[in-house]
Amino acid sequence: MEDVVVIGAGLSGLTAAQELHQLGYRVLVVDKSRGLGGRLATRRIGATVLDHGCRYLQPFADLELSPIPALLASGILQPWQPEGFELSADGLLTAMSPQDLYVAPQGMSAVAKAMASELTIQRHWLATRLTPLSQGWQVEGTWLGESEQDKPKAFAARAVVLAIPAPQAAALLHTAAQRSAGIDDLLHQIQRVGFDAVITVMAGYGPDRSTRLASQERADGWMIAGNSHPTLRWIALDSSKRADPPESVIVLHSSAAFAADALDQANLEPTGQTLLAEAAHLGAWMLSPDWMQVHRWRYGFVRQALGAPILASPKLTNLVGCGDWCSGSGAEDAIASGRQAAAAVVTALS
Ligand SMILES: Cc1cc2nc3c(=O)[nH]c(=O)nc-3n(C[C@H](O)[C@H](O)[C@H](O)COP(=O)(O)OP(=O)(O)OC[C@H]3O[C@@H](n4cnc5c(N)ncnc54)[C@H](O)[C@@H]3O)c2cc1C
Repeated sequence: MEDVVVIGAGLSGLTAAQELHQLGYRVLVVDKSRGLGGRLATRRIGATVLDHGCRYLQPFADLELSPIPALLASGILQPWQPEGFELSADGLLTAMSPQDLYVAPQGMSAVAKAMASELTIQRHWLATRLTPLSQGWQVEGTWLGESEQDKPKAFAARAVVLAIPAPQAAALLHTAAQRSAGIDDLLHQIQRVGFDAVITVMAGYGPDRSTRLASQERADGWMIAGNSHPTLRWIALDSSKRADPPESVIVLHSSAAFAADALDQANLEPTGQTLLAEAAHLGAWMLSPDWMQVHRWRYGFVRQALGAPILASPKLTNLVGCGDWCSGSGAEDAIASGRQAAAAVVTALS
């Protein structure tokens, strides 16, 4: 039996698992994906590396929580100083003052890999059911890998951390056999959390084409934030994060309203083209990439947070939830919540 099973190897789950592992607990992390990091995601397309999830880290409000100094010291993170623009609702660009942004030239998932280096992680394993045991939980799941390997169908643990987006955590809580007052309390709290979807377009333009914006003054990278634009939320020359990129690449994130309409399209190719056509108003070259890929984030950005550092009930102390959705919407919130979840588990197991 494990001391703790952490479901989800995103920033919050890895933080909770790291803390508990360092305190000497026997911890197993499971994640349904092949890679680590959840929304801290990196895609490799041939020799090209790009970040199609979390774009950068910004200085943390709580310095004690911040992994940025250690990640800078180890060379995993580097400052990124693109020329920044704000995109107005009617499509006009204005210059933004520079911000402190930190990126991983190897791809943002390098941050997750560094955090996971001492942890035991079962990847490709989708947790599907929770069942209470006399002293803990059984977590049942399905192996999603391609090989016919004989993977365990269940893990038992004294405590479980649900480090997954709230709607997915709610689905797992609903499976708990013999629903108790504690489970019902967690389900009641979690229903106030809401997420916005995002449609992400990744597009490559080869090594030799000009990928400048008309309003650009400097010759290096750029990013555009469009918080009030009906279609576009953010676009950047992602290849400007890399030391020696083999080609120019942009990453574009849609607005929440656009994603809500397009989310369930079976074929996202036309949706990606619509987004590139919108972006082409800012640089005509964007309309005709050499290649394009489109990704849907069903649970992209937190719209409505829980309003508490973790999901917990005094009626059920050995099952807690954590993630960015507990108290905010970004990397710092995920790490803060993971830290709090570990502290709650320590109390429950002591
Ligand atoms: C497009 C985009 C851009 C962003 N940009 C930024 C940014 O620039 N700066 C910033 O601070 N934040 C950004 N964010 C937000 C940031 O990425 C998140 O706040 C943070 O990564 C969330 O971490 P998490 O651990 O809470 O959740 P997640 O990263 O979602 O991790 C959850 C993990 O659980 C796994 N999982 C889910 N269900 C199951 C199951 N049943 N069984 C097993 N595993 C399961 C998933 O595979 C995933 O790995 C961005 C998010 C998106 C989508």
